[in-house]
Amino acid sequence: MFSKEQLDRYARHIILPGVGAVGQKKLLDSRVLVIGAGGLGSPVLLYLAAAGVGHLGVVDFDVVDASNLQRQIIHANSVIGQTKTESAKARINDLNPDVKVIIHEGKLGSKGARATIQDYDLIIDGSDNFPTRYLVNDAAVLENKPLLYGAMAQFEGQISLFHATTEQGEMGPCYRCLFPEPPPPGSVPSCAEAGVFGALPGVIGSLMAAEAIKYLLSLGENISGKLIHYDALYSEFRELKLERNPNCPVCGENPSVLKLIDYQEFCGLA
Ligand code: ZN
Repeated sequence: MFSKEQLDRYARHIILPGVGAVGQKKLLDSRVLVIGAGGLGSPVLLYLAAAGVGHLGVVDFDVVDASNLQRQIIHANSVIGQTKTESAKARINDLNPDVKVIIHEGKLGSKGARATIQDYDLIIDGSDNFPTRYLVNDAAVLENKPLLYGAMAQFEGQISLFHATTEQGEMGPCYRCLFPEPPPPGSVPSCAEAGVFGALPGVIGSLMAAEAIKYLLSLGENISGKLIHYDALYSEFRELKLERNPNCPVCGENPSVLKLIDYQEFCGLA
């Protein structure tokens, strides 16, 4: 079942109660799509690869820039100018050759998003902009996929698990249950303007990776119906209860969003 190398590599998982050989095999058979190989995508991809999640899809359209390296730890100085997908793939393969990396090069749009997420067990949104966040949320609801969400601004970050069964056995809320419509263009500062505290994506992304592995193995309690908020300046974690909104435009009783929408770029004053 496991090779000698795998028994060595996954020894700390195989002896761990709740994971074991069965759980490790489950991880190797799992398929996770990570949207964005940036600040959040870096720790998410690295920890999922290290843990032996066997199939990792990576969506990105950008190239590695020197200004990324303050927080995007999957990339390196030696690959500046390479696509982030290729850079991430090379690093993942170097970390764990068991992992099959599937590259989805380009921006996710209304045309291909549903087809892209179809093949995966769990979708992870590590994007940094509202059009992608709404698109991915809607695609996840329409394709009935669980969506692990993370977002950051300056010194604060938050995560949740959307469109997934709660511990009470009900379908949990989606992103639009909280924020039904995107903010008006120009109302949010650009990501570059706002800035991100260097180690913050490490905290938030690692929380996301832990929740992803828990979800794949049905370990402990998932965070569907909860929002975990972290403030790095005051070293404070808070948990908010989230409710499903019956008037939600995509997962509510009378949905108005029946197909995907390409919103315009909000990140930055266009
Ligand atoms: Zn909803």
